Amino acid sequence: MFSKKTITDIDVHGKKVLVRVDFNVPIKDGLVGDDTRIRASLPTLDYLLKQEASLILASHLGRPKGEVKPEFSLRPVAQHLGNILKKPVIFAEDCVGSIAEGYASRLKPGEILLLENTRFHIGETKNDPEMAKQLAALADIYVNDAFGSAHRAHASTEGVAHYLPSVAGFLMEKEIHYLGSAIANPQRPFIAILGGAKISDKIGVIHYLLGKADQVLIGGGMANTFFKAQGYPIGDSLVEDEALDTAIKLLQEGTSRLRLPVDVVIADRFDPEAESKIVPMGPVPDGWRIMDIGSETVASYRKVILGAATIVWNGPMGVFEFPRFAEGTYGVAQAVTDSESTSIVGGGDSAAALVQSGLSERVTHISTGGGASLEMLEGLPLPGVIALEDKDQEAIPERK
Ligand code: ADP
Ligand code: MG
Repeated sequence: MFSKKTITDIDVHGKKVLVRVDFNVPIKDGLVGDDTRIRASLPTLDYLLKQEASLILASHLGRPKGEVKPEFSLRPVAQHLGNILKKPVIFAEDCVGSIAEGYASRLKPGEILLLENTRFHIGETKNDPEMAKQLAALADIYVNDAFGSAHRAHASTEGVAHYLPSVAGFLMEKEIHYLGSAIANPQRPFIAILGGAKISDKIGVIHYLLGKADQVLIGGGMANTFFKAQGYPIGDSLVEDEALDTAIKLLQEGTSRLRLPVDVVIADRFDPEAESKIVPMGPVPDGWRIMDIGSETVASYRKVILGAATIVWNGPMGVFEFPRFAEGTYGVAQAVTDSESTSIVGGGDSAAALVQSGLSERVTHISTGGGASLEMLEGLPLPGVIALEDKDQEAIPERK
């Protein structure tokens, strides 16, 4: 169960509510590209608007590193959100100080204000208490719905929670439910599927899931390092020599649970048009490289996946950006969505691969947070969540 208070646990009616959202979306020529993250915040925003709260939205965008850089302005997001909500979204040119205070104090119930990029101030990433207090001064209540930023202890994600009654939004609650509770106490069989580029990015994830899952199915570039650790020549495949010792340890730790591909797709160069063939896993010839898992592997993983009650998946099975090497990832996606399991996908590229496969609507939960979802899959607590009030905690008296 989610142990933190949410927006339904407190009275938000008519209040000024500071909502930390994750509007870190791609922007090109002043227009918002993929707006998944904006749409993911709508249940929380709609609920608060129905309660006639005044919404003050805060987010970061990109990495302006404490400087005001116009290309990182959130102004296009205000326009975009306004179009979605069919309501004007007022934009404040600064997130704290007199400009922000002016806009916030004039805000009426049911109105929406979007603050400029929190990372235009260096205090944001430094979690400066002064900046946190200035943010808190804008509102009566703080709501954190920015799951994608919850692994960072920044002024708008963690610091501010020390100065206002602070609760989670619906997106935050949902993400923690799936990536936390559902994985900590899974319905079994519980199957983890792990791929992606590198072992070194994900040692913690592999380790945690090896301890929890009934089976761990490996694919992607990370399989190569396991193959090399087993003594196979792997040609020009992506490999991490510095992670070989770790791979050996994980192989020993996981003997009966860790499964590696039995066949692979190899290519003669890293190119969408490269010559390619499927070969049983064995020594990879010089000049060739592993780009995907093979069809035998997909078939054997499929059997395991169809029997699962809970599945967590992080990391594509191959270089899915090149259609010729996306088959393994799509095959696994098909199996996951054909199964009757609760299926949970974390990781930025994994989410993109699933959308590309056309099957994203059919998984139970795709996380909106890349880094944050990985930290959850390592079993780590997130600072932005810890800072919120516990369900059984007495309310912090409201600031007057
Ligand atoms: P996520 O963002 O979901 O956590 P990663 O960033 O770890 O996933 O990995 C995604 C990347 O891994 C993709 O860009 C993909 O091309 C790459 N990848 C997968 N398999 C291979 C492979 N066999 N060789 C090289 N790169 C690979
Ligand atoms: Mg990635």
